[in-house]
Amino acid sequence: MSEFLNSKYAPLTAYTPGEQPRDRKYIKLNTNELPYPPSDAVIEAAKRAAGTLNLYCDPTAKALVSALAERYGVGEDCVAVGNGSDEVLSFIFMGFCERGVVIPEISYGFYPVYADLYRINAEKLPLLPDLSIDPRDYYGKNKTIVIANPNAPTGLALSRDQIEYILIENPSSLVCIDEAYVDFGGESCVPLLSKYKNLLVVMTFSKSRALAGGRLGFALGAPSVIADINKLKYSTNPYNVNTVTQACGIAALSAREYYDGKVETVKRTRQTLTDGLRRLGFTVADSAANFVFAAHETLPGRAYFTALRESGVLVRHFNVPEIENYNRISVGTPEEIEKLLEITEKILYNVR
Ligand SMILES: *Cc1c(COP(=O)(O)O)cnc(C)c1O
Repeated sequence: MSEFLNSKYAPLTAYTPGEQPRDRKYIKLNTNELPYPPSDAVIEAAKRAAGTLNLYCDPTAKALVSALAERYGVGEDCVAVGNGSDEVLSFIFMGFCERGVVIPEISYGFYPVYADLYRINAEKLPLLPDLSIDPRDYYGKNKTIVIANPNAPTGLALSRDQIEYILIENPSSLVCIDEAYVDFGGESCVPLLSKYKNLLVVMTFSKSRALAGGRLGFALGAPSVIADINKLKYSTNPYNVNTVTQACGIAALSAREYYDGKVETVKRTRQTLTDGLRRLGFTVADSAANFVFAAHETLPGRAYFTALRESGVLVRHFNVPEIENYNRISVGTPEEIEKLLEITEKILYNVR
């Protein structure tokens, strides 16, 4: 820390992104990216858009907003876009949590970081012993609620009905549902938007739409809430979604068949991975996301993580007591998963 940093930021613990190593070639199963490239149409759109990079991008992202509104069946005034959903989440913590925020104790690691950054009191609710969320814990909170559904890193999902009760039981609080993984098997809350003005759904192009490096996320919600988010955006960075990314987003929405096909492959591979790990003695919850969360009865989580790394496979381990025996393994290609299972079998053989 330099002597120049505002002292209020001194105690801040920043979010630790999953490694993106460049030193050697790993089988990369640690940050839940899609293991397939963007569609050809998206790559073409990026090339075309690059030719206008001398100009500022459209700060309203009008064409993209309009394509998203059509895709999700909402009005254009119900859509706000951001530089990844992380930025959208940042605006939500920055602007809508005056009475505090309620988050699951085990969830996306960025939530507590934003809470600290904006000096918001965060109430962290424990998961049930099976690592699921009990929706009743979130009733009558009178604070902003942020829940990832499906949750990360567990992969477990609440049903739309369960979320609807959280909305009903918190009529004067904003309920933000982070649907980063919904395309892989969750029930989206988008159909509830017309009924609940306190619902905000946050989504991203980083996972099911193979655009993690493009940084594109968005929120769907009531026009007044969306206008507030845009006010914060115009007070921070009006050009938050660049020209190339806007074009890629539009093209990705048009290439629905391509992405649906990849998502189906990921879901099939997830089953192979789940079955394979269970056969090797792992406890694996039924994931609704593009990763699985697995623990072994005799091989400690950290040891498995390290052994995989030494064999050239990256997964994600969290140094958090409740889940220290688990690893989060992204669903890669069928070939990558086959390799992971082979290596895992060898690791287990060696620790016997
Ligand atoms: C990956 C992820 C995000 C962030 O996605 P970006 O759009 O890449 O910023 C948000 N929420 C959850 C739960 C995630 O896992």
